[in-house]
Amino acid sequence: MTMPEPEVQPSGAQELARDLVVIPDRRLPLVPNIGVIGGTESVLVIDTGLGLTNAEKVLAFATEFARGRRLYLTTTHFHPEHAFGAQVFAGAATFLVNRAQAEDLAAKGPGYLEMFKGLDEVVARRLEGVQPAAPDLVYDTRYDLDLGGRVVELRATGRAHSKGDQVITVPGDGVMFTGDLVEAGQFSIFPWFPPHDTDVSGTRWLAVMERLMAEKPRIVVPGHGEVGGPERLADVRDYLRLLRDETWVRRDSGVGEETIAAEVRAVMLARYPQWDGQEWIEKGVGCLCTEHAA
Ligand SMILES: [Zn+2]
Repeated sequence: MTMPEPEVQPSGAQELARDLVVIPDRRLPLVPNIGVIGGTESVLVIDTGLGLTNAEKVLAFATEFARGRRLYLTTTHFHPEHAFGAQVFAGAATFLVNRAQAEDLAAKGPGYLEMFKGLDEVVARRLEGVQPAAPDLVYDTRYDLDLGGRVVELRATGRAHSKGDQVITVPGDGVMFTGDLVEAGQFSIFPWFPPHDTDVSGTRWLAVMERLMAEKPRIVVPGHGEVGGPERLADVRDYLRLLRDETWVRRDSGVGEETIAAEVRAVMLARYPQWDGQEWIEKGVGCLCTEHAA
């Protein structure tokens, strides 16, 4: 069984607010929710889709949407389906990200490119010709992007799902784009691949979710899965808290990691029977075991 084509379909774009749309992921693996936000002067695109063909479609859609307005591109984090199409925007858009994400792209981009090419033939084909792109503009922790009559806030959250996670909010409309800090209808993705990548942090992620909840957004656009309200944030917070507690209580009583993973998996499948991505539960347990007593 080969995986379905991770194809972005801009024709399915949905309007969340005036001059603000999401190209939904259609629940396909390795397709992100992509945002396009307009102001009187400029338009911001959030995430590119996996590979050059997808990014070309997103750029064509954004160009049509912009009708002559200046284009910006940002990415929620460096993972391939979110950022590995950015080179297509060179010359057409200003690519801006937070510093930690720019460093992720440079340091981890090439390794992730090879790893993803090895996942599946479909993915390898999508990634042909991809080179992790260098941003045009890098900010440290916070950047207010004035699109003309609409200011969009770009903020680095600090290490959580990855080192360089970025959240983008449109305060005037209460819209928040979270990238993979939030998924709907699936277990949180822990890219825990020791010794190659151990950047994900369950405890920091939980703290980030608390902070995002305090902002009380009206609409939350997850990295993957259906757009929703603030309950999207609460769902992830609750899951991460339960994952931590169930892992640590077993760690406290000296249970081995394999047993912990099996038991916690059973607890989670019973608690969230509808969720996809079961393979990420034990990655999360592995991560949280190392953060215990830390
Ligand atoms: Zn990710």
